[in-house]
Amino acid sequence: MRVGLGTDVHAYAAGVPMMLAGLSFPDESVGLAGHSDGDVAAHAACDALLSAAGLGDLGSNFGTSRPEWSGASGAAFLTETVSLLNSAGFRVLNVAVQVIGNRPRLAERRGEAEAVLSAAVGAPVSISATTTDGLGLTGRGEGLAAIATALVSEG
Ligand code: MG
Repeated sequence: MRVGLGTDVHAYAAGVPMMLAGLSFPDESVGLAGHSDGDVAAHAACDALLSAAGLGDLGSNFGTSRPEWSGASGAAFLTETVSLLNSAGFRVLNVAVQVIGNRPRLAERRGEAEAVLSAAVGAPVSISATTTDGLGLTGRGEGLAAIATALVSEG
């Protein structure tokens, strides 16, 4: 078995839909800026999976060399990432994601987010959330961060 880790950060941006952990938050006045939908939870999970398998990271797999992935949803990145792992002979056992920031509030929709991301991965994905007591870029409300770990098995 092998573990992997991933992190992601995106800045809040006006006029962009808020997508987080595979869910839409239509009541949010800001979204997350980025090359894609800015879903930090999904992106951190992808990086953790790729890390566990030693397959690089999101940038090396879905970067400028694959422009068809610009604007892709976090769930689509996750599904394709798992496909890359499976092709390389890895099976995903579980993924854990922690979202760090002030908004949107995930607590009420945690189960829904876990269901969506678990379906995309084909293995249990657990989601938790925390804040940073007003400190740092997330505490100042500049953006949202996420950290993830993944456990995979070879064969
Ligand atoms: Mg990202």
